[in-house]
Amino acid sequence: MPDIIVVGSINMDLVVRVQRHPLPGETLLGSDYQTFPGGKGANQAVAAARAGGSVRMIGCLGSDSFGAQLLEGLLQDGIDTHWIKRVEGPSGVAFIVVNAQGQNSIIVAPGSNYRLLPEDLKAEVFRGAKVILLQLEVPLPTVLEAARRGKEAGTTVILNAAPARSLSADALHDVDLLVVNEFEAGIVLEQKAPQGIEEALAAAQSLRERVSSVVITLGAEGCVWADTSGQGYVPAFQVQPVDTTAAGDAFVGMLASRLAKGEALAPALRWASAAGALATTQEGAQPSLPTEAEVESFLAGRSSP
Ligand code: ADP
Repeated sequence: MPDIIVVGSINMDLVVRVQRHPLPGETLLGSDYQTFPGGKGANQAVAAARAGGSVRMIGCLGSDSFGAQLLEGLLQDGIDTHWIKRVEGPSGVAFIVVNAQGQNSIIVAPGSNYRLLPEDLKAEVFRGAKVILLQLEVPLPTVLEAARRGKEAGTTVILNAAPARSLSADALHDVDLLVVNEFEAGIVLEQKAPQGIEEALAAAQSLRERVSSVVITLGAEGCVWADTSGQGYVPAFQVQPVDTTAAGDAFVGMLASRLAKGEALAPALRWASAAGALATTQEGAQPSLPTEAEVESFLAGRSSP
């Protein structure tokens, strides 16, 4: 039985590079396009598997060739794909245009991700798991049902509330740990995004009125946490970032894997921070997600960030 169940999105990212973004009605010549497996759900499933977790992915893929490729990619990372639903029609695709300055414009066509429904989540799929990991790229009723199923099965339910939306105490009822970056924290709370460590700790305490444990990530500044035992700040590790894509996914995947092993939140955050830092030192999303061994050797010899 897998320890970690990820219920979430699976996308193919189609990336094309251009000198500048096109204007409405304009045609530009771009580079050859590249395809990369993505989607927050799949990225975090891969991150958790490389972090040493045994992972089951629950999502929905289409009948196009991307569906088959995405399934194969998850299998290669040792992820249990048995419960992934297949439907007629297109898989989820993100169209990403990158200009010469490295700025992205992205259109996400959710496709089959939006066809993952609450009734697809059978109780037996959750039994025996330790951690359920959720994001907000599949329909909200599906996310809430997955949290309810996770709670019912006695697991730790983690929600990475991305892309962010406001979330009431009701919506967070079955969530044990909320992980957000500073911008997402602002949106969930419907207030200005916290700036700096003090404001982030205050935002974490406000979120604690809705959910028992909270982590707010602050990019190169690190992260703060708050739970029933107290609160704290974990500085980021010093690295030379080349591409910060998927730092958050690496962080959340490692956190899920450490918590599934029974580690407490504060020490688990040190591993998560190391995984996030390492992910920024490589290009791309899934290719940059580090393995447990890579994080272990990175941490060896570093007593604290
Ligand atoms: P998201 O990608 O969801 O916005 P963050 O950018 O906050 O997430 O990154 C998540 C975590 O990854 C941070 O809390 C930090 O530990 C690590 N991290 C991110 N960017 C850097 C960086 N430039 N240097 C070192 N660590 C980083």
